This record gives sequence, structure tokens and C-alpha cells, in this order.
Amino acid sequence: MKTLDDLGVEGKKVLVRVDFNVPLKDGEVTDDTRIRGALPTLEELLGRGAALILVSHLGRPKERDPELSLRPVADRLAELIGKPVKLAPGVVGDQVTALANALKPGELLLLENVRYEPGETKNDPDLAAALASLADVYVNDAFGAAHRAHASTEGVARRLPHAAGRLLEREVKTLGGILEHPRKPLVAIIGGAKVTDKIAVIDRFMHVADTILIGGAMGFPFFKAQGHSVGDSLCEAEGVGPAKDALAQSRMDRSHLELPIDLVIADRFAAEAEHRVLDGVDVPDGWMGLDVGPRTAQRYADEIAKAGTVFWNGPMGAFELEPFAAGTRAVAEAVAACEGTTVVGGGDSAAALQQFGLGDRVTHLSTGGGASLELIEGKKLPGVEALK
Ligand code: ADP
Ligand code: MG
Repeated sequence: MKTLDDLGVEGKKVLVRVDFNVPLKDGEVTDDTRIRGALPTLEELLGRGAALILVSHLGRPKERDPELSLRPVADRLAELIGKPVKLAPGVVGDQVTALANALKPGELLLLENVRYEPGETKNDPDLAAALASLADVYVNDAFGAAHRAHASTEGVARRLPHAAGRLLEREVKTLGGILEHPRKPLVAIIGGAKVTDKIAVIDRFMHVADTILIGGAMGFPFFKAQGHSVGDSLCEAEGVGPAKDALAQSRMDRSHLELPIDLVIADRFAAEAEHRVLDGVDVPDGWMGLDVGPRTAQRYADEIAKAGTVFWNGPMGAFELEPFAAGTRAVAEAVAACEGTTVVGGGDSAAALQQFGLGDRVTHLSTGGGASLELIEGKKLPGVEALK
């Protein structure tokens, strides 16, 4: 993969694909982590004498939608970078071309939400060509969008000299490094809600990890496959088959697959629900498992403490509700305290770390949920392939 070290940018117009898909409320950016994440690349390019044309999506508009304008993002970026950021009136077209042509080294222009153009998600060649015509070279720093073959992530890269930005470079190297040369033991913690989304990740770790710790709603298809009762727990039916296969595979493989041994159960999904610790995993009718229990949390924390490398994706329970946050908190604290390399992927796992004030205590907090999982699965990401 080409990086900024391989690309001449001085005096050039650089089209930079960034991931500014940030949460908004009442026209304000409520979490600017993703904007901050792009700063190293943007500052390096400006320092090297480039003019920057930034392109990002925000939400999923089907067409022009003023609610999803990048206006608030342009304002926040201007504050963070300490320079004016011009917002283009659209993505492409005569007015945008005129603004791009007038841009001087050290200046920034942000294009409007690229999903205003229906051709974006179709990887439309005309849109890719129109984007390419605005600039001399292309840099992709939007790791979170790299698993999609869109006009602004893939099509345009094929049409201009290109390179990865620093954030995308770090994501690919760190996540790839986990699989290729991890410091041992390698412990993978997989939780969250959807087994079918993450089963391929478990399969992959089966071959490289020493220990795989399962938590969250992810556990229930495994329990069901083992013949336990799951009560009203969130248990994805299509996950039971793959869970059964994973259990059979783990008996043959060297990786050790661990499931919870106790749970916190509740009579409904609510902070005020009646709840108690269940010593065991047979959830009675009328109850649901919403967290791993204290013995599981301790066991998992002990495994994590010994790890040379940790990959964590998916919370251990419904951590958004305080009575069911303890398991996720215990794992988060153990990951933060671990002396090995620690990598966390997944939007909700990242949110959990931040909620516990531990966001800056891990080696790498991945900005790409879906993209990080696909990379771990061994899939080729179109946005990354186009930079090779
Ligand atoms: P990530 O975004 O980190 O990949 P997921 O999206 O897969 O994680 O899962 C996160 C969600 O799973 C959280 O909203 C959490 O409340 C929910 N969750 C975890 N465990 C349970 C459970 N036992 N029952 C219901 N929901 C759960
Ligand atoms: Mg999620």
C-alpha cells in the first residue's frame, strides 16, 4: 500500500477522502473524534504545501438533504485546525470546479456530503471522474469507509496518483499486525449482539489466537447450541448453526474458546428491571441474560492480564444500562491495564471504553467498525486495494 511517504504533494491539489461521519444534534457536532482523527494527515499535507479538497459522507441521504449538510463539520474542523474551511455548495459541478481551481497551497475546501450524489454508492464512473478532475492527487484516510467500493473511496483512486493517509495506514498496519506477528499469547474478546456478523472473525481467530473469550448476546447461540435454555435472552436464531460449527472446530483447533460461566439476568431490558446473578448459564423462562456474571468477568480479566496482544470487539453486556455494565467495565479495565498491545474495534466497544474514561489507555482504538472486522476476517477492502 502506498503511503504519504510515496506521494509528492507540494504545490498540488490533493483530494482527501476523510471519514467525517460524525453524530449531530441540533446542527452541532456532538462527538468530534473522527474529525480529530484526520488532523495528522491534513496537517502534514498542509505543511508540505498542498491545497486540500476534502470529501466525506455523513449519514445515508438518498439525495440532497439539508439536515445532513457538512456545514457543522466545516465549522468544527476550522476551529480544530485553526484555518478557514470553505464549504462547497455541492459535491461536483461548475461552482465546485471554480472553487477548487481557485484554491491555493495551505487552503482547505470541504465538498458537500458525497452521498448527495446517488452515484457515490454505485461507484459511478462519471462521478469518480468528476471528483478526480478537481485535484492532482488522491489520499484516502477514511478507514471506516474502506470496506465499501464507492466513487470517493475506490473509483477515484483508480484515476489519480494515490496514497493512504496516516490514519488509514495505522489502521491497516495495526490490525494486519495482530494476525501476522502478534506478541503471544493472543487473546481475542468477541462480544456484542450479532453472531452472524462476527462468526467469520471468530473463525479467523480460531487459527491464530491462543484464547477466544465470548461475551454479550453473542454467547446465547453458543449456549443454545450446547442445549442450555436461554429464556428471553437476545439470541439470534441464524447464529446457532455457526456457533455449533465453531464449538466443533474449537475442539480440533489449538485455540481455546471460552464461554461465560455465570450471567446477570433480568426480567426485562430496562435499567429498573429486577435483576440478579445466575450462577450458571441456564436462563429461566421469563428472564434474559444482560451481562456476564462476576466469576466470568474475573476469569476473563485474568486471561487478559496475561496477554501479549488483545483484540476486543463487542461489549460483554447491555453496558448502556448501569446494572448491566459491570462485565464490560471489568473487561475494559483489564484491557486498559494489560501491558501487551491492545486493539479495540467496534462502535459500541469504543463507546464503552470512552464511557469508562479508558479511551486513551489502549494501544489502538479502531475508527472503523465494519472495516476492522472485514480486515480481520481476511477480506480485501476495496478502498485499501485501490491504494496498492
Ligand atoms: P460493536 O459496535 O462494538 O461491534 P455490537 O454492535 O455487536 O458491538 O453490540 C453492541 C450492543 O450489544 C450494545 O448495544 C449492547 O447493549 C448489546 N448487548 C450486548 N450484550 C447484550 C445482551 N446480553 N443482551 C442484549 N443486548 C446486548
Ligand atoms: Mg455496534
